Amino acid sequence: MPKTPVTVIGLGPMGRAMTRAFLAAGHPVTVWNRTPARAAALVGEGAVLAGTPTEAIAASPLLVLSLTDLDAVHAVVDGAALRGKTVVNLSSDTPDRARETARWAESHGAGYLSGAMMASPDLVASDAASVFVSGPKDLFDEHAGTIALIAKPDYRGEDPGLGPLYYQLVINIFWTTMLAHVQTIAIARANGISATEFLPYALSATESNPHFFPQMAAQADAGEFPGDLERLSMGMESVRHVLRTAEEAGVDTTLPAAMVAVFRRGLDAGLGEKGFTGLVDVLGER
Ligand code: NDP
Repeated sequence: MPKTPVTVIGLGPMGRAMTRAFLAAGHPVTVWNRTPARAAALVGEGAVLAGTPTEAIAASPLLVLSLTDLDAVHAVVDGAALRGKTVVNLSSDTPDRARETARWAESHGAGYLSGAMMASPDLVASDAASVFVSGPKDLFDEHAGTIALIAKPDYRGEDPGLGPLYYQLVINIFWTTMLAHVQTIAIARANGISATEFLPYALSATESNPHFFPQMAAQADAGEFPGDLERLSMGMESVRHVLRTAEEAGVDTTLPAAMVAVFRRGLDAGLGEKGFTGLVDVLGER
């Protein structure tokens, strides 16, 4: 049976990897990129380079968008004929913007799935890659097999904001952890300890974190934060020591100062005797 033609718009590392996965599975693939030179190797591998976004969109019933954000999506796609197309938008942005774009696409007669890749480009099409997807369930079911060529789909629900939301929640943990590592390296280096020397300790610190997550999740859902093992007031002293250690090392204190500010809000709210996870209620109020 002939495979559905697919158009991939956006040929950054992610769009190029996805294009290769569709080609490898035997789909006819049309591509478009603002900088056409990035398509050269893919054309050699069998992709067809469209001259304009309109041409690329006209070429296939299934459009996969892999652009920097939804501003880029609108810059490329606005004005093209979308009626009858299915758009799988894997360009990162916020849940609300994803919902707006879904309404916009549907008002132009397109089916719309939004989501985000949970993998680096080198892992696309491997067992290690998954992709959050949200939008109409029947549309997802129709295209799940094709989406699975790039990554294992994790369908999050009908609300088109959910795929992007799950991605942002995961990425929040990713970036805060990565920044913590960068901050730690800066303090270690200022004390004459190289990043590589400290690496085993950085790894064991992050590996121990998940041990606490189930208990934190249970406490957050129950709204009960017993301070039987650790109290916020103890935590405050601990983050203050981190701040002072950064000051002594002469490195930037933006991150530890932010930690102290968050703990301070918890103490001001009277949570000193409660467990650390009680901060979730403080952070929930803006
Ligand atoms: P890049 O930033 O490398 O590529 C983005 C693409 O968007 C390029 O094709 C670029 O075109 C295009 N683009 C940006 N702005 C415009 C514009 N105004 N008009 C037209 N085209 C535009 O991103 P990646 O390929 O790395 O990622 C794509 C998406 O996947 C992003 O949303 C990213 O957050 C997400 N993602 C990426 C991961 C990664 O590890 N790379 C991991 C998980 C998700 P041009 O080539 O002309 O610059």
